[in-house]
Amino acid sequence: MTENGKPREECGVFGIYAPGEDVAKLTFFGLFTLQHRGQESAGIGVLDGKKYSLYKKMGLVNQIFDEEKISKLKGHIAVGHNRYSTTGTSNIKNAGPFVSRRKMETFIVAHNGNIVNAGRLKKVLERKGNKFKSTCDTEVVAQIIADSKHKDPAKKIFSTMYKIDGAYSLIIGTKNELIGVRDPLGFRPLVLGRLNGHYVLASESCAFPEIGAKLIRDIKPGEVVVINEKGIKSYQFSHKKRASFCIFEYVYLARPDSIMNTKSVYLTREKLGKLLAKEHPAKADIVIPVPDSSVPGAIGFSQQSGIEYREGLIKNRYIARTFIFPDQRMRELGVKMKLSPLREVVAGKNIVLVDDSIVRGTTVLKIVRLLKEAGVKKIHVRITAPPIKNPCFYGVDMPRKEDFIANNKDVEEIRSQIEADSLGYLSVEKMIEATGLSENALCTACFTGNYPLKGEFLKVLTKDALEQKGLSLPS
Ligand code: SF4
Repeated sequence: MTENGKPREECGVFGIYAPGEDVAKLTFFGLFTLQHRGQESAGIGVLDGKKYSLYKKMGLVNQIFDEEKISKLKGHIAVGHNRYSTTGTSNIKNAGPFVSRRKMETFIVAHNGNIVNAGRLKKVLERKGNKFKSTCDTEVVAQIIADSKHKDPAKKIFSTMYKIDGAYSLIIGTKNELIGVRDPLGFRPLVLGRLNGHYVLASESCAFPEIGAKLIRDIKPGEVVVINEKGIKSYQFSHKKRASFCIFEYVYLARPDSIMNTKSVYLTREKLGKLLAKEHPAKADIVIPVPDSSVPGAIGFSQQSGIEYREGLIKNRYIARTFIFPDQRMRELGVKMKLSPLREVVAGKNIVLVDDSIVRGTTVLKIVRLLKEAGVKKIHVRITAPPIKNPCFYGVDMPRKEDFIANNKDVEEIRSQIEADSLGYLSVEKMIEATGLSENALCTACFTGNYPLKGEFLKVLTKDALEQKGLSLPS
């Protein structure tokens, strides 16, 4: 979970195949733009056709890399990774990307998602004598690829995909290739771009303008793309009738300037706000967002309702992350330091407060109290998504089931607990409508409990993994 009480994406990945370019520097800028997808560690691995170099460390991208470090990463293929921890603890051993080597072959692997059968596969490899340096599922994937008997790197990747199960977008660098892979249901995003005749891969298209690249398309669910000196080749290793793209990317996780499945994240969020205003109108003087992620939703609400949009909360973007404070009292102070109400705008007003999600309910309660202390008369909380009730197994860090405020409370009970004057959540149907995609293209499990591949998927999770999320094994 992030310091603002929101679920968080686990990783951002970036890769480039560009002979003649400074691939390490381009990867640095790519990762810098993807910083919102992982803020605990970052790393860049570079291959030059013979050898590889790698630098990774705990911290933010621009704290880790400087000109000197980047200048030592020489080659024409680069793979970069920003990470939060979900599988494996947060330490340097679990920082990506991971390198696996067998004889003359090297694979540098960056992964976004969650390999649910990684524990079982690791045990099998350990019985065969493999040694692991981390507790991270990406290292398991890297070792399976390296152990494959196939000579052709693309075939090694194919055979690995038939073994691993779960949600994954992978970028893999080999001696002569850059390879991108998306799991059969396409839970996590992965896009392809073009830069001066070269190819780039990234978790989100927002990484491309920063380096002068243009978005070509999404990598398809179940697709492998192999990029080398001959160009790009696409292979489909799985054909499913449905996909399960994470709808929470549109609601909160992705950067608003990204395009996912050809849809603008920003415009989708505006649409969520418009549909919310239709479903849950309110009588108020102004609409304000919880900054920053709820700004487009609040603008949409304002456009639809005709209620004036104002900024009523100012976010201190440079404050230290509040979870570093040691105790609850200090954490509460942290939230106060992070968001300040604009008394001159909100005092004496009835307001609509738009947010994109409520997880535990503690953060929104603090915001409601802050606004009331600042003289707000009535607060109508409107959420641009349905209540979150279920944990995620597909690469997003969420609390245990019993920790969600909506787990055992109805909307009226939640309203009372967060001390709002009214509360409205967008319905599942309208959330899906806002994306412009069909239900069969999306995962909505944290809202609906409809886990894609329920039986198949959950049965590969260990009892421990399920219990961690507050669930039990399916019968
Ligand atoms: S469970 Fe929720 S957060 Fe996880 S992939 Fe599905 S929609 Fe996204």
